[in-house]
Amino acid sequence: MARKPTGTAKPAELQRFSRTLNKTRMAAIMGVVGLVFLAVARFFLPPQWVQIGLMAFLVGIVSALFSVGGTYLGNCPNCGAKAVYAHAFGSRSFKCRHCSKPIAVHRATEGLFFRRP
Ligand SMILES: [Zn+2]
Repeated sequence: MARKPTGTAKPAELQRFSRTLNKTRMAAIMGVVGLVFLAVARFFLPPQWVQIGLMAFLVGIVSALFSVGGTYLGNCPNCGAKAVYAHAFGSRSFKCRHCSKPIAVHRATEGLFFRRP
């Protein structure tokens, strides 16, 4: 299991098919939330709210599909442990699960890099 130490300028790896998987998962979550909302709206709200809800729901799904990206695997810049970053809604930092220090995500032409904030 021992991996040779990696250089500092190595971009995080994009996991295969993760982009599609994350988008599908997000669409499924949005779909369930939307259906629950519509069911509630149908019973408790006037009909025009159902249409507004349906619109918001569709806009939500589309924007979710555009803002969700792939899952990246890299090394924590603080402790060197494996760190997984799922690109979603433009978040640019996350916490290391190992040392719980913040990791900044830096996008460059060579790829995505994990850095100390
Ligand atoms: Zn760490």
